[in-house]
Amino acid sequence: MGRNFPILCRVLCVQGDLVRVLVVGAGLSGAVIARVLAEAGVASVVQEARDHVAGNCHTRRDEETGVMVHVHGPHIFHTDDDEVWTYANRFARFRPFLHRVKAMVGGAVYTLPINLHTINQFFGRCLRPEEARAFIAAQAEGGPGEAVSFEEQALRMVGRPLYEAFFKGYTEKQWGVGPEMLPAAILKRLPLRFSYEDNYFFHRHQGMPEAGYSAMVAAMLDHPLIELRLKAAFRAEAAGAWRHVFYSGPLDGYFDHALGRLGYRTLDFERFTDRGDHQGCAVMNYPDAAVPYTRVTEHKHFAPWESHAGTVCYREYSRDCGPGDLPYYPIRLVADQALLAAYVARARAERGVTFVGRLGTYRYIDMDQTIREALDAARMWLREGAAMPAFAAGPV
Ligand code: UDP
Repeated sequence: MGRNFPILCRVLCVQGDLVRVLVVGAGLSGAVIARVLAEAGVASVVQEARDHVAGNCHTRRDEETGVMVHVHGPHIFHTDDDEVWTYANRFARFRPFLHRVKAMVGGAVYTLPINLHTINQFFGRCLRPEEARAFIAAQAEGGPGEAVSFEEQALRMVGRPLYEAFFKGYTEKQWGVGPEMLPAAILKRLPLRFSYEDNYFFHRHQGMPEAGYSAMVAAMLDHPLIELRLKAAFRAEAAGAWRHVFYSGPLDGYFDHALGRLGYRTLDFERFTDRGDHQGCAVMNYPDAAVPYTRVTEHKHFAPWESHAGTVCYREYSRDCGPGDLPYYPIRLVADQALLAAYVARARAERGVTFVGRLGTYRYIDMDQTIREALDAARMWLREGAAMPAFAAGPV
């Protein structure tokens, strides 16, 4: 190749890079994949449209108060997957953190998820665990068979009074449609407890990265075989110019929305500050339909080992995601399911591209599952030189 080598290099630089892998998105999926590849000796370029790493778990210090802020809403790391926990701990020092959520309903403050305290307080009773179980079972509504909708699932699980107080209004605000339109899987995220246990999650491992999620993701990307390009938008036409592409952007965006737009919810955050401690906990939910926001996050409570005189809070509003907005939650209504099936078929037919992550597979997955799937996808590609079948993990 001798004399032609510089020309070839220039062509590769302009069009892509046939010896390197392109990872689209510097969120958790992209960072884990690039790291696994790098440690196996495979170089990659991680291309990110935004000006920061860590996607929607991005954290940064609030300039006014110095508090570490979860810029795109609260993220708590929790998992039963020992390998994922060990992996995350390689890149961040995790501090013990238990997520305890409160809910303001009708002017009173309750514990979430619904537990024995919530039940006794709400109904003005002093029930013991088995009494409460029978009491709630007597309120449950619904026939035999699997619940399909969120509403059916909720009525079976907690009965109508608790459903209407804690789930109905919150869910309508969060998703923009009635709970009867939403899949039951969303509610399966929330447990019901007949004890006073008030830990929101029940996983073996739970914690908060001491220096924030962005520092953790930056540490994953800090490897000589990884080149990070921020503020670099991806165009699917460029995909063929790379050895392989791992794509963690929105699934429909990859195809330029050719079949239509999948429904996402986006979030608006209204920042306000106070002195000392504003609400006494990290997250206060507001299930009442009359309150326009879903929850208030007071970020300093995510880092109780730090001390700050001021405090910063975000009121969180959910709305439909327009073309210029950041997509947060895949909605997955019935209409979306048909469109999703069409996009999945196209994604499966796409050679040399693996679709990963919450947006790339249009699924409501948590951080630990995101890391698990990213580890598996990268390893499978390294092992078999083939893309893991997109969406192999099934719908969520
Ligand atoms: N949810 C609710 N009331 C609450 C909290 C949650 O009805 O006070 C429902 C709501 O539909 C929400 C879902 O449960 O979207 C999952 O809640 P989770 O706390 O997992 O939401 P995330 O933190 O992922 O936004």
